[in-house]
Amino acid sequence: MKQNITCLCGRSFSIDIEEEINLDKNADQLEKICNGTFMTFDCPECGKKHKPEYSVKLLWKSKNVNFEVLPELDRGEFYRRKKDSSSFETIIGYPEMADRIVVIRDELEPIVIEAIKSFLLAKAEETYPDKEINAWYIGKTPKGIEFHLDGIKQDEVAVMIVPYEIYEKTQSDYKKRPKNDIFTSLRHRTYLSVQNLYRHDALK
Ligand SMILES: [Zn+2]
Repeated sequence: MKQNITCLCGRSFSIDIEEEINLDKNADQLEKICNGTFMTFDCPECGKKHKPEYSVKLLWKSKNVNFEVLPELDRGEFYRRKKDSSSFETIIGYPEMADRIVVIRDELEPIVIEAIKSFLLAKAEETYPDKEINAWYIGKTPKGIEFHLDGIKQDEVAVMIVPYEIYEKTQSDYKKRPKNDIFTSLRHRTYLSVQNLYRHDALK
């Protein structure tokens, strides 16, 4: 599908966007999602980088999962809609898409990672109650799982390394008690995300 981007410099240019991507067959697109360069376009006139968000479906049969990725702008509409249009798992916003795809690529369980984010955010909010903080999965390191928290200080992230024992403990808690509030509150219909804990009251 063709779309137009109008740059602040006044130049308008056309881009090609894909509505559905098979991640098993498109290793380059998978890589772009993981490294954050998916759907970035440079203005041919002034060189400004544009990162538009469009809905996209991601098919990933080898991982047994299909995603509908919604633009961040559609977050409110997702909560307001009464039922889901498909059985696809939902992701909202491209940063969350990159995060989730890397978690699965690294063979970790998304719900366990989202639960750990909720612990990290709860702790950060005790210290910084007035800040809007986000937690992101970064990757595995020899000492543990690396997360970044942004929103505490401008243009800075707090790096947190969570030991693998915490991951394993959380995973075994989930296996034993999947109906525990800690886990059920992370999911809203097809949407699994720590963001569900922070949605505006009007969207509950
Ligand atoms: Zn431009």
